Amino acid sequence: MTTSKHYVVEHLDVELEAWSKLEYLTIATETRPATTANPLNQPTFHLTSLPRELFENLPGELKSHDNLDATMEEVNKLEGLKAEEVCLLDPRAEKDMCPEDGEVFKWFVFGGILGDDPPRDRTAELRKYGFSGRRLGPVQMTTDTAVRVTRLVVEEKIPLDKVPFVDFPELKISKNETTEMPFRYVRGEDGTPVMPEGMVDLIKEDSNKGFSDMM
Ligand code: SAM
Repeated sequence: MTTSKHYVVEHLDVELEAWSKLEYLTIATETRPATTANPLNQPTFHLTSLPRELFENLPGELKSHDNLDATMEEVNKLEGLKAEEVCLLDPRAEKDMCPEDGEVFKWFVFGGILGDDPPRDRTAELRKYGFSGRRLGPVQMTTDTAVRVTRLVVEEKIPLDKVPFVDFPELKISKNETTEMPFRYVRGEDGTPVMPEGMVDLIKEDSNKGFSDMM
C-alpha cells in the first residue's frame, strides 16, 4: 500500500511576491524524496491555481525545480485526488492536527498567501472545496512552516504539542534595530527559527522599505 503524502499550496495571490517564491522553493526542496526512501512513501508537491500570466512566467528556479508540479488548475482537479483523503490546513478549524491524521489523509492543502497581522482569514477562500479542516494550533505560521509542521506530525508522528516552536522571534535587521516577526516557526537545533534560505536578507531589505504584508 502506498503511504505517499501529497502537499498542495493553492496560490491565492495575483502575483508572486519574493517572500512566497522563497517559501515555495523551500517546500519543494524539503518535500523532495530522499534517494534512499521507500518508493511507496514519496511525498509530492503541487502549486495550484496559478493565474495564467504567472504560470507562463514562473521564475526559473521554480520552473526547473525537480519536485514542483505547477498548474493553473484548482486543487480539486489534481489527478488521483479523492476529496475524503484531503485535509485543508485551516487556522479556524475546530480540530488540531494529530499523528493519526496521517492514516486518514493523503493530501494536505495550504493557502498560498502572505501572512498578515492581524490574520484576515484568507484561508476562507479554500473552504469552498468542502475538505476536512485541521488546525496547527492557535498561532499563525508562514506557509512553509505550516507544511513543515504538518510533515512532522503526520510523517514523523510527533504530536503537535511536542514540536519545538519559536513564537514571534525578533530579528536583528541592523546594528541598532530589530523587527518582530508576527508568526510561529519551528525551532531549529541551534535555537533559531527555521526559515527559507535568503529570507532573513529579504526581511532586512523590506524592513528598510517598511512592510505590513509579508510572508
Ligand atoms: N493570515 C492568513 C489567513 O488569512 O488565513 C494565514 C495565512 S498563512 C501565512 C498561510 C497558510 O498556512 C494558511 O492558509 C494555512 O493553510 C496554513 N496555516 C498557517 N498557520 C496555520 C495554523 N495555525 N493552523 C492551520 N493552518 C495554518
